[in-house]
Amino acid sequence: MKILVINAGSSSLKYQLIDMENEFVLAKGVCERIGDGGSMTHKTHDGKKMEAEKDFPTHKEAFVELIDVLTKGEYAVIDDVNEISAVGHRIVQGAEKFSKSVLVTEEVVNTIESIADLAPLHNPAHVLAIRACMNVFDKHVPQVVVFDTAFHQTMPKTAYMFGVPYEYYEKYHVRRYGFHGTSHRYVSRRFAKLIGKKVEDLKMITCHLGNGSSITAIDGGKSVDTSMGFTPLDGILMGTRSGNVDPSVITYIAEKENMSGNELSLLLNKKSGFLGISGRSSDHRDMIQFSNEGDERSKLVLDMLYYQIRKYIGAYTAVMGGLDALVFTGGIGENSYTARESVCRNMDYFGIKLDKEINQKFNRTEHEISSAQSRVKIWIVPTNEELMIARDTKAIVDSLNQ
Ligand code: ADP
Repeated sequence: MKILVINAGSSSLKYQLIDMENEFVLAKGVCERIGDGGSMTHKTHDGKKMEAEKDFPTHKEAFVELIDVLTKGEYAVIDDVNEISAVGHRIVQGAEKFSKSVLVTEEVVNTIESIADLAPLHNPAHVLAIRACMNVFDKHVPQVVVFDTAFHQTMPKTAYMFGVPYEYYEKYHVRRYGFHGTSHRYVSRRFAKLIGKKVEDLKMITCHLGNGSSITAIDGGKSVDTSMGFTPLDGILMGTRSGNVDPSVITYIAEKENMSGNELSLLLNKKSGFLGISGRSSDHRDMIQFSNEGDERSKLVLDMLYYQIRKYIGAYTAVMGGLDALVFTGGIGENSYTARESVCRNMDYFGIKLDKEINQKFNRTEHEISSAQSRVKIWIVPTNEELMIARDTKAIVDSLNQ
């Protein structure tokens, strides 16, 4: 069974074609600048790469082109579109409507549309892509939606409510939703498998650290708390997002600078974080380089980031009443031994003890990095959200065929 995994934005469409017999990625790529010209990058499993300017007025033309590239010419990896058995879509916001992945029906699409207010930049784009897909693929090809928020629907109310008047939860669904759920679910399951234990028997903290970062407390396989909130803005310092700040800082800045809601949102989402503090870059690698060159504000970024991660680890260990495993993933978590070492420094009293040498040796590889004396297992587990989406899609399609 071959599954096409789609991650659609308002002007982009990322894709992977995965052969589920061996979970092998046959091809992947991205269509960009949809609605404003168009370009496409496509890579095949045997190293062929295509980059081309295209004409993508809407998502539909991007789908038509992508099927063309997958099936015809020198970058083709399948002979016929009918070899694609199903399509799995990443959806950012499922709110309280979706606690697991589901088969796409008209009702499901309408529900995703109905919660667009909660993710105005993402959900409408996902709906466009689903509808374009319905147009381009035979209607018998099942489509499945996999939500970033679904994994966190197990959080208790104590963890997901904010201390604002209750009516805003009732009227506007204001609460913590959490994001990166597909990644936290993937790495937690994968970690349990790697150490030969049941996820139900483990208390773990998964740190997804990238341009966007989130930390999740997973007790017995279920998310019990997570650092991102109503939107992905909450939690720790990120590339361009502020992470949590005292809310009155925002109203104060708004008054001083005479800023509108939209301007504030731009400030907090795009101009804060590493970029806002350093004034130079939103990239973690740059922060390390600039800090090594003596740049004080880049050093401050790194100190703040590692400090905040450590606070979450302490808090979530308390929440779960113990900790068996700490898992690092995402661009920073998988690649930066400096980040992992700084986060785990002086945590012996928690039973967290890193093996510094092993930590320095492994990047982007599934590997244990805790020392033999560490009570808590520390691991790097590279994330694979596309594979998780493909697995969910396959499971739903298989259940249909039974
Ligand atoms: P996204 O959240 O956009 O998916 P990624 O998970 O790819 O982002 O993470 C990107 C971040 O990972 C960037 O800040 C980048 O600097 C950081 N990163 C990647 N490789 C390294 C490395 N070797 N050392 C330190 N940071 C790294």
